[in-house]
Amino acid sequence: MESNENTRETNVQSNFIREIIDEDLKAAKNASRVHTRFPPEPNGYLHIGHAKSICLNFGIATDYKGLCNLRFDDTNPSAEDVEYVNSIKEDIKWLGFDWEDREYYASNYFDQLYEYAVKLINKGKAYVDSSSSDEIKNMRGTPTVAGQLSPYRGRSIEENLDIFTKMKAGEFKDGEHVLRSKFDMSSPNMNLRDPIMYRIRHAEHHRTGDKWCIYPMYDWAHGQSDSIEGITHSICTLEFENHRPLYDWYIKELEIFHPQQIEFARLNLNYTVMSKRKLLQLVEDGIVNGWDDPRMPTISGYRRRGYTPESIRSFAEKVGVAKRDNVIDVSLLEFSIREDLNKRSQRVMAVLNPLKITISNYPADKVEMLEAVNNPEDETMGKRLVPFSREIYIEKDDFMEIPAKKFFRLSPGNEVRLRYAYIIKCEEVVKDPSTGEVIELICTYDVETKSGSDKTGKKVKGTLHWVSAKEAIDAEIRLYERLFSEEDPLGDKEKDFKSFINPESLRVLHNSKLEPFLKDAKSGDRFQFERQGYFCVDSIDSTPENLVFNRTVTLRDSWAKIQKNS
Ligand code: ATP
Ligand code: MG
Repeated sequence: MESNENTRETNVQSNFIREIIDEDLKAAKNASRVHTRFPPEPNGYLHIGHAKSICLNFGIATDYKGLCNLRFDDTNPSAEDVEYVNSIKEDIKWLGFDWEDREYYASNYFDQLYEYAVKLINKGKAYVDSSSSDEIKNMRGTPTVAGQLSPYRGRSIEENLDIFTKMKAGEFKDGEHVLRSKFDMSSPNMNLRDPIMYRIRHAEHHRTGDKWCIYPMYDWAHGQSDSIEGITHSICTLEFENHRPLYDWYIKELEIFHPQQIEFARLNLNYTVMSKRKLLQLVEDGIVNGWDDPRMPTISGYRRRGYTPESIRSFAEKVGVAKRDNVIDVSLLEFSIREDLNKRSQRVMAVLNPLKITISNYPADKVEMLEAVNNPEDETMGKRLVPFSREIYIEKDDFMEIPAKKFFRLSPGNEVRLRYAYIIKCEEVVKDPSTGEVIELICTYDVETKSGSDKTGKKVKGTLHWVSAKEAIDAEIRLYERLFSEEDPLGDKEKDFKSFINPESLRVLHNSKLEPFLKDAKSGDRFQFERQGYFCVDSIDSTPENLVFNRTVTLRDSWAKIQKNS
């Protein structure tokens, strides 16, 4: 098997689409070529659902030594924009895929599509309808009641050609006429009831300018574009299953190369929304800070949040390819990113909500450099030195004046280990006299308990991360939670999905303290903050003077683990 150029790599999980391709190759269909495409409409940024489709289309092309085109489906001038085109290209590259020189646009084919339409008119398979859009809607019927034939359906070929030419020449206003296919007004499949092929739109197109004032509908443009490009397997989502007879009909009537459309279930995730139109509302209403807000399910949002391309690809692989709609738990995506970052992340200590500790028996001017492990999962990453001194910060949460049951961290009279350092004991609690808030702890340390050379045999139940106060770097930390508080924000049709935004989806900490190792951290760098999760330097707002970190994801079960270790 391995010797055949077109067999797939054995380490890839099979699915029903690959089975169809395997069969086609066995039958030497399409001269044993495999050619797919990813066809985004440039009307928004790509989201994780698109990532799934990208991994599928480009992945199949790679595995079968075939090709995958990038084709912008730019048939709707009013919603589309070059900003979106550029972001889409950036996102696909970042995910690790390459369309080489095959960057195409449906608008490249507008001339060809026009000629194809003329061909259908000449065959008596298309006609100009001069009914208003309301009239067309009212004559469409229902799934159980056949539609009515348009009074214009019987127009002569000559008249159709004449009006269609004038439509193209700009002689009519928007909505005056449409070109429709003459398919079947009584089909139970509503998509086949003489679907519209062209509508008049006097709108500037981001690529063709004002050359055109008639624009093809998706169904008319898509299959023909696939055919022109020699696509063998046109993979799309399930909502197009009912459009397949139309896809096939156009191609058959035009007598052109016939790609096969194959439908799979779109990816749905809980606690978010995925349609570009809905995401655009979040952007336009200022509910999020742009398409790349780290709470967005967009590829640019995940990138800014610190996700890796590897983790998204591995997620897409884990999700698999289904024939039925389903909803994937967002925790599977979180699992994929943790799995990846755990292997590769530099560990550091960072205190998000600092509480000062003075170690009263530690010499005032002394600074010790202590050895810390960079990544326990990867020895080759080595060790680093972390300064320790008399004044340090620990996490506010790691102290309780009156410890709750099973709280094994710091409390008055109690001992804990400072990671890579010493065992300390809390001797005194200093409070703000006006508010009663704990503002400092006075502790003592046991010089005999230095990590790595502790022979005291002393056992403590908690280990805390910390940073030395003098050497610490200040940072802003952005903590993200799920964007919606409801699992299915679209589930309640009575309510606006935007009313389910999680008010805790972004919390900003302005006073966090990092170990000095992070002073040269650059845009996009990723770290594990011990006990806190994975964080990355924000690519937009962080500067060397004012570091800003995004929390990519928490550590799994961090609380459970702390209590168990301790
Ligand atoms: P949206 O409703 O989010 O705007 P769309 O399908 O209109 O999505 P397109 O730009 O037309 O977006 O999609 C490009 C390709 O990505 C299509 O082949 C489409 O089927 C696929 N795709 C879109 N959303 C998903 C998803 N959630 N899961 C898998 N594939 C998807
Ligand atoms: Mg679309």
